[in-house]
Parts: sequence; structure tokens; C-alpha cells
Amino acid sequence: MAKTIVQKYGGTCVSSPEKRMLVLERVKEALDEGYNVVVVVSAMGRSGEPYATDTLKSLALETHPDISLRELDLIMSCGEVISSVVMAAYLSENGIKSRACTGSQAGFLTNGCYSEAEVVDCQPAKLREVLNENFVPVVAGFQGVDAHGEINTLGRGGSDTTAVILGAALEAEKVEIFTDVSGIFTADPGLLKEAKVIQQITYGEVCQLAYEGAKVIHPRAVEVAMRNNVSVVVRDPENSSGTGTLITGESSIQSGNFSTRGRRAVTGIAHVTELVQFIVEFDSPDSSRELEIFQRIGEAGINIDLISVFPTTKAFIVKEEHSYKVENILEDMGLAYRAEKDCAKVSVVGVGMHSMPGVMARVVKALNERSIPILQSGDSNITISLLIKQEDLYDAVKTLHDRFNLR
Ligand code: ASP
Ligand code: MG
Repeated sequence: MAKTIVQKYGGTCVSSPEKRMLVLERVKEALDEGYNVVVVVSAMGRSGEPYATDTLKSLALETHPDISLRELDLIMSCGEVISSVVMAAYLSENGIKSRACTGSQAGFLTNGCYSEAEVVDCQPAKLREVLNENFVPVVAGFQGVDAHGEINTLGRGGSDTTAVILGAALEAEKVEIFTDVSGIFTADPGLLKEAKVIQQITYGEVCQLAYEGAKVIHPRAVEVAMRNNVSVVVRDPENSSGTGTLITGESSIQSGNFSTRGRRAVTGIAHVTELVQFIVEFDSPDSSRELEIFQRIGEAGINIDLISVFPTTKAFIVKEEHSYKVENILEDMGLAYRAEKDCAKVSVVGVGMHSMPGVMARVVKALNERSIPILQSGDSNITISLLIKQEDLYDAVKTLHDRFNLR
């Protein structure tokens, strides 16, 4: 069988006739290069547009707030089905024989968990048939069917996962994720205009950037790609091939010409805003109260981050929207604490840093020179996160971006 490529088009890439023309061009290009092409689509457009996921969801919820999760998943899965029919019809009209397929027809078996289903298997026999007849299958992303025949959706942003799983199941050469930005950037281009597209990045780095606030590809899709060693390219349908960001394993990056540029400490910078830092002080060590704090916050369903525990000091951060609940808990426990509002977390991410001494020194020096106070820090093997005041965000990102030569 010829080599296969999976091309996933996000909601903004399929939302208008002009955008769909670019999809046609990209599909044609891949066919001309000799690929078997499998297209995966998201629902058309964003919230407010008639067939977008959020619009369908509100259609059900506004008039029927008690609608079951089963029915909600059913209506939400329609966005992608509509999109696949429209796209397949358009491609067919323009000389590319295509066939729309639901997630179930594409072989996605899910675990029955409405709205956040896991894919338990993918048997794309039907897609192989469609490909053998020289048709382009256009698969509705974000959905599957469980063992009882019920439709499940895969969680928001789930079409990326659909595409990567199909890439693995069909042993595709690569999966292209088309979106409205030209790749994964060294920093948020909305904040820093000199941010540029990263040419190659490892699975681990992309996951870290996504967890730390960058929004381009769903981290779950990247995890599936990593487990199955599927190469993923993030690109913009307006640009021709060869551009965008290649997400791949560390070994392929090192063996490429990339290594001639030397090891980089930092590949990209992500940030999260609207955070509140809590610092709780005990008079003397008290393990039962320590436990009680974290238990009560957990029971309130609040996620905490940048957690540092010392015998008499406990520090952590929460999203601003949860801070009043944390204050209530700490006050109820009669604890002395300080809440530092308007914080932002900046994270520098790079596989190179884990075996490179002095990276933190460079971070601290850069921020000191700009008189940006570091309120707290945390790290994993490929990430250093700094908590700063939100008003210093631009300055911090710019300084670190310059210092680590990401321009
Ligand atoms: N349409 C779904 C969502 O908005 C899935 C996707 O676009 O990936 O979350
Ligand atoms: Mg998406």
C-alpha cells in the first residue's frame, strides 16, 4: 500500500468556502506527492457560528438544561459529522473522490465515558476499503462509539487525538495538524511579536509547553503520538509544505542536521496568567494541619500548582477564580497566610536543560537585570517555572526569549 498521510483540519480551516479552497489545495498536493490521504475535520467555526461545537451544545442546554450527557454527546458529535459531509462534498465536486465517515465508521471504539471518552481501540478497516477504491475518507473527529453502540465524544480539542490515533492505526508517515497559526511558537506571538515558529520540537517539550499554558495542539494527542512514534507537523493551510513545526522524538531531532546547531537549553516559553499565590505560615511543624489544608482544597475540587512544602511554610498557587474558596478554607482553619494576587507563571521548556548546569543561573541573571522579582519557582527535568507579578509578564518573557536566543 502506498504511503499514507493524515491531515487534520481545525474548525477555523473548514469554516468558509475560501478556507475550504485551501484544504482542497493541500489535499491535492499530498495526492500529487503519491500519498494516500485521510482527512480528519473539526466542527466548522467557533462558538456563535451555526455548526460549531459550542453552538450545538448551547442549542441543547439553553432550552433543556437537564438534558442527559448521552444526548449532549450525540448533539455535540454532529458538528464534526456536518463538517465531514460538507468537506467530502466539496472535494468530490472539485475532482477528488471523497467519502464522509463518522468516528464510528472510521473504527473508533470508546470506553463509554460521555464527554471525555478514552479511545480503547481503532480498527479502520472501512477507511482502508475507501482508500483502496481511491477515495479520500473525510473522518469526523472527536468521536467514537462504545461497546453498546452509544456515541461518545473525546473531550474538547479531541479531533487532534482522532487524527493521531488514525496516523498510528494506518501506519501513516506523518500526521499534519492544520490550524490558524503557522506552527508552535517560541513564545505566545500575541504577547511577543518577535516569537517565531519552532522548526523541530520533541513530544515531551510540546506536552510541557501545553501543560504550562501554550495552546496549539492537545497534549493528549501528543502523548498518543509519542507512544506510537508518529511524527506530527503543525502547520497553517495558507503556507506550502515544508513550513510549520515538526513534533518528533528526541533521537530523530539529534540525528538530524539540527544537532549541528548545538544543544539548546530552552526551546520555548509558555505562560499562564490570573494566578494567586498562597503562603501559609505555621508557628511550628504540624503534620495533621498540613494534611488538612491539602485535603480540604482537594475536596473542594481545586487544582493547586507550584507546591512547596517546608516544615513551617507551605506555598502553592491557584487560579484566581478559586482563590476565595482557598481563603475560606484557610480562614476557617484559623491559619496565618498571605495571598499574593495578580501573578503570572512563566515556564521555560527545553530537553537540553536537563543535562546542562547553569540554566537557572541564566534565568535568574536575566530577570535580576530587569529588576523582575521571582516570587517562587518550580521545575521538572525539562522545565523551569517562575512565578512573577503579572505586570512583569511581557518584560520577563521578552528578556528570557532574548537571553536563550529564541529570536
Ligand atoms: N470540535 C471539538 C471542540 O471544539 C473538537 C475539536 O475541535 O478538536 O472541542
Ligand atoms: Mg483544536
